[in-house]
Amino acid sequence: LNAFFQPVQQLVQLYTNYQQARAALGKLRGLLRTAPAVKEKPGAVPLPQVRGGLSVRDITFGYDRKRPVLRNVCLEIAPGETIACVGPTGAGKSTLAKLVARLYDPDTGTILIDGHDLRDVTLESLHRQVGVVPQEPFLFAGTLRDNIAFARPDAPLSAVEAAVDAVGLRDLVDRSPDGLNTILHERGQSVSSGERQLIALARVFVAEPRVVVLDEATSSLDLRSELQVEAAIQRLLEGRTAILVAHRLSTARRADRVIVVDDGGILEQGTHDALLTAGGTYATMYATWESHTTT
Ligand code: ADP
Repeated sequence: LNAFFQPVQQLVQLYTNYQQARAALGKLRGLLRTAPAVKEKPGAVPLPQVRGGLSVRDITFGYDRKRPVLRNVCLEIAPGETIACVGPTGAGKSTLAKLVARLYDPDTGTILIDGHDLRDVTLESLHRQVGVVPQEPFLFAGTLRDNIAFARPDAPLSAVEAAVDAVGLRDLVDRSPDGLNTILHERGQSVSSGERQLIALARVFVAEPRVVVLDEATSSLDLRSELQVEAAIQRLLEGRTAILVAHRLSTARRADRVIVVDDGGILEQGTHDALLTAGGTYATMYATWESHTTT
């Protein structure tokens, strides 16, 4: 009899897990869609397929309007260009990145993507083409596959598999008892912090956005994971426009252009080499960083 009931019990358990995962997914998606600071305007239109040019025009923004965090910031980013934002903690780098992904709206000024004001397009169509990798990637209770396909739940298995290979998660999948169908727990005990970051990057691969906004994680990883994450990021940026909040200057060094954000404005900008030659703030930061690192 047991031989009959055990598989049935397993099926019931599987179904329960599946329901829980779906519920968690729905809740999270709801949360993301309703970023409280941003509202879709009536008559918003879907953003057509973009090349990924960004234009930040004289924006001022404060979480509290009376205390602006960014003041009169202007920035032009060409399609396919990688920009690294560096600068002291609290300077406004992440805030700039969040505005570009329209997680907030500027108090004054405009941000355009291929000439479309971010406020004129539907949030769903915008977020499909502008992918965000947050500083602290989250996992939810659900399968590894659901966690990876998060931004594109209808993604075919082949797209999920391709993302796994692109970021170097094949080891994790092979090691997991049910491969991609292994259930991850919210706290993600079974996943290292490096793997958690790779999962966050795999999500973006699956969604294939034209623009990537990436807030580099500050948590330190062992050298091997660090190199894996770096390689995955490099692959992700190929052919996409990117704004990186760079906490490691090795990331800035590889960008097409570096902008130094300080005190709510852009203090310096140029290529890594040009900024070193100029001998300003970035050159000093870089010299200090180099003397403290071996990579
Ligand atoms: P950076 O990325 O350069 O370290 P941030 O953009 O995170 O800087 O922060 C800029 C300023 O905005 C800081 O003074 C910070 O305390 C404040 N800030 C950031 N996020 C929020 C928030 N959600 N609510 C209120 N203030 C915030």
